Amino acid sequence: MFKGIYALIIELDSDVCLNVGALGELKFKKGLYAYVGSAQANLLYRIKRHFRREKRLFWHIDYLLSNNAARIIKVLFKQTDKSGECALATFFSERGEPIPGFGCSDCRCKSHLFHITDYHMLDETMQTVHFET
Ligand SMILES: [Zn+2]
Repeated sequence: MFKGIYALIIELDSDVCLNVGALGELKFKKGLYAYVGSAQANLLYRIKRHFRREKRLFWHIDYLLSNNAARIIKVLFKQTDKSGECALATFFSERGEPIPGFGCSDCRCKSHLFHITDYHMLDETMQTVHFET
């Protein structure tokens, strides 16, 4: 029962075209993605929720993860306050390709979802951000 921020590393097996709630229809290229989020109440519960396929689609990320081509391959998390969430999103935005408007309705970030093309970046993330895994 603790709060913190997390990053989901998501693998997408094929190109998909998805309806993402208010964002409308978006195209996602096959590959790796990093999604940044936070939970101010129960972090583990939130992360478990991301793994469940059957749920009411609430966050943008729910739409992506409800697709059969998508699966979470790694979860990174850290106990910290909410300001760390956007700092982490900024870190990814300098290294990945942001999906504009995704997951950032309540902050000023460009996005909280990033298409990752540089695989080494993940190791760098681990070293720089000092996640607990
Ligand atoms: Zn943000």
